[in-house]
Amino acid sequence: MKILVANLGSTSFKYRLYEMSGSDAELLAQGGFERVTEYTPCIEEMLETLIGDKIIESGQDLDAVGFKTVLGKDVSGCVKADDQVLDALEGFKEVAPAHNPAYAEGIRCFQRMLPDLPRVALFETAFYQWATAASTTYAIPPAWRALGIRRYGFHGASHKFIAERTAELLGREDIAERARRLYQDGPTAFSGAPVRVISCHLGGSSSVTGICNGVAIGTSMGFSPQSGLPQNNRVGDLDSMAIPYVCKMLGLSVQEAEEQLTKDSGLLGLSGVSNDLRDILAAADDEHQEANLAVDVMVDSIRHWAGSFFFKMGGAEVIAFTAGIGENNPDIRESVCAGLEDLGIRIDPEANQKTVRGMEGIISAPDSAIKVLVIPANEELVVAREVCRFIQS
Ligand code: ADP
Repeated sequence: MKILVANLGSTSFKYRLYEMSGSDAELLAQGGFERVTEYTPCIEEMLETLIGDKIIESGQDLDAVGFKTVLGKDVSGCVKADDQVLDALEGFKEVAPAHNPAYAEGIRCFQRMLPDLPRVALFETAFYQWATAASTTYAIPPAWRALGIRRYGFHGASHKFIAERTAELLGREDIAERARRLYQDGPTAFSGAPVRVISCHLGGSSSVTGICNGVAIGTSMGFSPQSGLPQNNRVGDLDSMAIPYVCKMLGLSVQEAEEQLTKDSGLLGLSGVSNDLRDILAAADDEHQEANLAVDVMVDSIRHWAGSFFFKMGGAEVIAFTAGIGENNPDIRESVCAGLEDLGIRIDPEANQKTVRGMEGIISAPDSAIKVLVIPANEELVVAREVCRFIQS
């Protein structure tokens, strides 16, 4: 079964094509486009490439396309990407302005161009559906909660992959299978030694999630992907009273405040240098105070959330790093884990330094009670598996 996974950014279109057989996946092709303003030409070019490279003969050879949709109003899980999904994306477009309009547009493009191709959406929020009400409820009036204002969580496919892969690497096939089948079976009865993972997805967007035996217990992302850790140019956690205060003091409208919180904040707003941590780190080496502060705030925030899940889960067996920053930057990993020997966390500096993008590895010392792992992100595989299962069922 040939499953295409479409990853639609606000300015990019990336795809992977898998040949699926059960939960086994063979990657047949992958590609992408940057600085995208319209998806139709990208989809056309993708099909031409797949046909030109003789991977498929025509669009008819595809069995389904899967979308890693972010946040739907009243919709989550793995569902047919139909009008209800478009309405759900539309319903929360103000909450995820960088993501929802892009997915809605992408889904419509596939609908127009390949009308017979089944379209399936796997929402990023699906992984958090078993987190307790205590960890997902904000202390706000009932009328606000009735609007759906709660902690949803994002990066679900990435953290789910970490749940599966950490269990595999620890040789715990029982938990790996539990994690792989989570969306099918829910959290099934489990006994045995626990595998508690603090999963750090650090990239353009970042989040930390606590995972107990394959199931997410909570996450740093909240109602919108603007919360938790500082993001590339989007604010992380912020005291809600700051917004009315700034609007009053600076004479900003709510829209202007929102614009600044979603475009001029995060690492960019802090550093004044760039939204890319590589540029900020280069500037920080030159003793640029704001750049140094941006890095310190990022590390502090990761430790804050990791510490929260360590406490909530009563400990951890694994800390995992993934995504652009998590996979590529040994110094950030070392700073996050610094001074935690009393908690049983000890990095092996050499193993850490030589583990860079695309490499999977253990970066903790052999005598570290908690294993620290680097795992390349593989969100698309999680989407492909769920889409395949959805189509077969
Ligand atoms: P996404 O934008 O989808 O989150 P990635 O997970 O690839 O994509 O993360 C991209 C981010 O990773 C970039 O914003 C960049 O700042 C960061 N990054 C990549 N390599 C490094 C590195 N060596 N050091 C610090 N940050 C890095």
